[in-house]
Amino acid sequence: MKTKILTTSENDIREAAKIIEEGGLVAFPTETVYGLGANALDAEAVAKIYEAKGRPSDNPMIVHIARASDIGQLTPMLSEDIVTLIDNFWPGPLTMVLKKKPGVPDRTTGGLDTVAVRMPDSEAALQLINLAGCPIAAPSANISGSPSPTRARDVIADMDGKIDAVIAGDDCRVGIESTVVDMTGDIPTILRPGIITAENIEAAIDKEVKYDESLFVRPEAGDLDPAAAAGASADGTEGNAKGDGESGEFRPKAPGMKYKHYAPKAQMTVIEGRRDKVKSEIERLKGLNERLGLKVGVILFEEKAFIEAAHDFFSRLRDLDEEGVDLILAGALSDRDGVGFAVMNRMLKSAGYNIARV
Ligand code: AMP
Ligand code: MG
Repeated sequence: MKTKILTTSENDIREAAKIIEEGGLVAFPTETVYGLGANALDAEAVAKIYEAKGRPSDNPMIVHIARASDIGQLTPMLSEDIVTLIDNFWPGPLTMVLKKKPGVPDRTTGGLDTVAVRMPDSEAALQLINLAGCPIAAPSANISGSPSPTRARDVIADMDGKIDAVIAGDDCRVGIESTVVDMTGDIPTILRPGIITAENIEAAIDKEVKYDESLFVRPEAGDLDPAAAAGASADGTEGNAKGDGESGEFRPKAPGMKYKHYAPKAQMTVIEGRRDKVKSEIERLKGLNERLGLKVGVILFEEKAFIEAAHDFFSRLRDLDEEGVDLILAGALSDRDGVGFAVMNRMLKSAGYNIARV
């Protein structure tokens, strides 16, 4: 298949919308990462997303809408908290898991009776959804398991020849995926951390918000399901609990969280500990490896530059792979900060939970 490279001009977005209407696949920029979109209400179109990405079929999609009032197509009832979150955070990087209406295909929700919904904060995305006239299911526009694409060229590198078109817009402002919060239980629960933190949500709805316990579990390195394409081990994997994960079992509520994720081609290790020690350990390991001819890449963000780290992390991984490094050494950020926690969630997964403490 020839993949058409489109711009964000109105004409081009019109063309992209037509492709979606006709059941095709279009990658497009959002403020978080690039998405790979299809008509969310068309099971056949959605099936093509799984195929293009090599995504396990039990990993549900986020459904994107352009107007809050379109939410009625997807869910039968809104609570006051849901409406408050819409008012406070949409358009923006907050996805809510809601009870689903029967019209939403199982293919879109991975067979769950809930649906994840968000309104992206990107002009091109909103125009595309409006013109297509349907909600758009869109996971990140990368091959399943590889770092999420935050630049048009990252999408093209992964998806050229596999999808109908790419809207090649600006680099993504946020750089990591949306916060996913489950609104179907008594306590709103964050299933995937993002730049909208539990504290932000608590402040808006004036009640407690939890993080899903699986977010604190560190599976043994190598324990995650690497063969994303080969179908899921639906029951998750055992892991060694740390932090607040009390059971020691890695059973995330968001099905996608159990897979090996965001992995660069290079071997990667996260160095964790006091900042000065982390720095010197990275230098030591770098020297050691370079002396014998290995090519080493370093990812070390400023200590408190969490937003910048979110913005740069995935593109740094992709750049280092392009440079052909053998080994990536990454300095851990503080996960006491909500945004730092979100970046560390990606960093640890990228490294397949290879962690060295100093
Ligand atoms: P991505 O599409 O790659 O941004 O990933 C979407 C994330 O949201 C994955 O971790 C999914 O497992 C999760 N997700 C989507 N829909 C649901 C749902 N109905 N319930 C729980 N998690 C969901
Ligand atoms: Mg993804």
